[in-house]
Amino acid sequence: MRTYGEEAVVLRAQQLGEADRILTLFGRERGKIRAVARGVRRTSSKFGARLEPLTVIDAQLYSKDPKDRTRLETVTQAVAITSFSERIVPDFERYGAASAMLETVDELIDAEPAPLQYALLIGALRSLAQGEHDPLLELDAYLLRSLSLAGWQPSFNECARCGAPGPHGRISFAAGGAVCEECAPAVGATRAVSVDTMRLLWALLAGSWRVAEAADADTRAAAARLVRAYAQFHLDRPLKSFGSVDEARRLRDVR
Ligand SMILES: [Zn+2]
Repeated sequence: MRTYGEEAVVLRAQQLGEADRILTLFGRERGKIRAVARGVRRTSSKFGARLEPLTVIDAQLYSKDPKDRTRLETVTQAVAITSFSERIVPDFERYGAASAMLETVDELIDAEPAPLQYALLIGALRSLAQGEHDPLLELDAYLLRSLSLAGWQPSFNECARCGAPGPHGRISFAAGGAVCEECAPAVGATRAVSVDTMRLLWALLAGSWRVAEAADADTRAAAARLVRAYAQFHLDRPLKSFGSVDEARRLRDVR
């Protein structure tokens, strides 16, 4: 039996009965935590934070058996450190991007410390909230980097199979990125990628915003399709929050 403090971002909050909530938290020190918060909606609630996605909280958690991380823990107190929701939720593009980020990281982490993933997520949400870059580019940069941290770093310049310097015109997800003319037949299914799209993919992964933001709308859309397919290739199930990302992109196209 143990109570401990943890800084965490709320990834998911499901209603449980009238007043309780089941939370999926990404703890800075402990990785994924599933916990119940009781009495969230009572006026006398001891939660100074609104326990909703996109909120970073300083939480007190209680665990019956700290060694058994599959158990549901209990949030006994929580105060908000930062809430990104005010600057993200009202904006359709930012909200779509943020939802896809939260859903993706939920798939990538487990009950193990993941400090780099945590820092990447907080940085991306802060940047989205501040409107630093195109939200849909922010999402693609985030996806490439979070997948890289999870062990699936793609190559968008050198051939992923033989290391021949690029740029190359084809991508193989199975091989791990760009492939040269010689390697292409050996790696199975490949997709043709334009020079501009490959450059954008490279820039998003490298964090070169000057190059990324010079890309036109068609190139951004082509890169987004590839990033999405790359994410789906490695994640076990389809990500449902991408529906609102698609909707945001469609609305942008008709404007
Ligand atoms: Zn090659």
